Amino acid sequence: MVVVNSSSDKCSNEEGDDSKKNIDYSNDKKRKYYTYIAFAFAILAVVSIAYLVMTLYGPFQPPLSFYDSVYNEREFDGYSGRDVILVCCSWGEELADGELTYFIGANIITQGQNNLGENIDSGSIEAVTRAIQEWNSKIERLTFTETSERRNADIEIYIREGGNERAGITKNYYDSYGFITKSYVIISNGAFGFGFSDNQIEQIAKHEIGHVLGLGHANFDGNLMAVQVNRGSGSVDDCEIEAVYKANEWWFDKSDDGKLSYIQPPTTEHVECNS
Ligand SMILES: [Zn+2]
Repeated sequence: MVVVNSSSDKCSNEEGDDSKKNIDYSNDKKRKYYTYIAFAFAILAVVSIAYLVMTLYGPFQPPLSFYDSVYNEREFDGYSGRDVILVCCSWGEELADGELTYFIGANIITQGQNNLGENIDSGSIEAVTRAIQEWNSKIERLTFTETSERRNADIEIYIREGGNERAGITKNYYDSYGFITKSYVIISNGAFGFGFSDNQIEQIAKHEIGHVLGLGHANFDGNLMAVQVNRGSGSVDDCEIEAVYKANEWWFDKSDDGKLSYIQPPTTEHVECNS
């Protein structure tokens, strides 16, 4: 009897151990399952944050393409193997006094509406102003002066609500001889749902001022005039300065005694940047 009892006790003990093991096993499974889920979420979170940081600050920014009035892919034909900036046009008599006046609109242009949007934040205006100041300091004999008279300004600059793929647009107007008489620049304050930083707005503005001064695009990345602004540099360098001199050669090549030469269109269609 004692033996049987003990054996049955043993038996039942063993059964109890088994079911405990089963519970342990299924708890273990659940724990593993939750660990996997937590792990997956952690990876997802890290990837999302990394993507966000990359798109905001890094190399994976959405393509801020400048399909503006200047851009035409065929223009780059014949320049393969050479790094060039295309030279478009020259300013006319407005440049004769060595001064271009600019006006910056005070309100955001909202899409699809005729009424003016809210005031532009001062950071964006300062960014545009810094862009103009850099050009101003790097181009000898040329002065940019701000004016509050929109109609008399040689250059009108507006900031609009971002939304489509265009980061900026420059529209130059020409007289019957083909010389620039007036420029309109529009800069988006964002694209693809991202707001541009002040640095990005400054870079876009510098690129657009390049078009204002008669430049086309560069056929290589890393230059201010690169077709895609986010692949370009943020500063005005020697090649762009040279290109502006070439575009407006009649003015910049005038003799030091101040005697004006005839207003002439540019004598070259490009400048080389790697020479
Ligand atoms: Zn452009």
